[in-house]
Amino acid sequence: MTTYLIGNWKMQLNESESEALAKEVVRLWAGQGEGKPDAAVVICPSHMALEECAKAVKGMPVALGGQDVFWEDKGAFTGEISPKTLKELGCDYCIVGHSERRQHLGETDEMVNKKTLALLRHNITPIICVGETMEERSAGRRDAVVIAQVRAALAGVKPVGSQKLIVAYEPRWVIGTGKAVSPEDAAEMHHLILGTLHEMLSSDIVEDRCAIIYGGAVDAKNLAGFLAMDVIRGALVGGASLKPQEFAAMAEITADAKK
Ligand code: PEP
Repeated sequence: MTTYLIGNWKMQLNESESEALAKEVVRLWAGQGEGKPDAAVVICPSHMALEECAKAVKGMPVALGGQDVFWEDKGAFTGEISPKTLKELGCDYCIVGHSERRQHLGETDEMVNKKTLALLRHNITPIICVGETMEERSAGRRDAVVIAQVRAALAGVKPVGSQKLIVAYEPRWVIGTGKAVSPEDAAEMHHLILGTLHEMLSSDIVEDRCAIIYGGAVDAKNLAGFLAMDVIRGALVGGASLKPQEFAAMAEITADAKK
């Protein structure tokens, strides 16, 4: 079973900084990653850096992902990027519904669903982010919010052929704080999401094509604790993914996790 380490570089780097970081990740990880086919190490630079990063990771055990996508292949959609273009640029993965987009750009569950369907059409694995705010958790609505997000994102979705999908459980109040939830807390939510996937999809699809990963203040120190939980199949990483030594160390931990 594949275990995932996905770096979300957000809008933190310019084009040359992104290229340099991609090259450094490849340099640090390539030798070890080649013998570890069960670990998928993915970097998600900003769109304008995808072309240079694609060159840096070509033929290496590091895959490329977008941070967002539009749901049409072409048309009058100013400022957007299509799944077709992401594929042409070399992306095999793409984040959708990240909490920063939900918060600052009004991304809705319906948009996340359209983006998910569009990505699968192009054989790009969607990384669908779900997670509750602190207010929702405090009000006892954590589970209901996350279940509703998963249900909406996956309406009409049925991965076939070589299509896969990843759900990233990211409690919104944790992102960027440096203080992760406990592995037990994360695992409880992963079980809830897994149960929802089983209600929506057949068991073979869930087992063969779906993975649930954790995101929120993951670093080289706490990653092994999350991966020790059977149900947690990897991590989506923000801050720590910008530090190449730490990210390469996390890739090694990911590759060594027994899944
Ligand atoms: C994220 O932005 O998806 C994330 C998990 O960030 P951080 O690791 O910095 O909390």
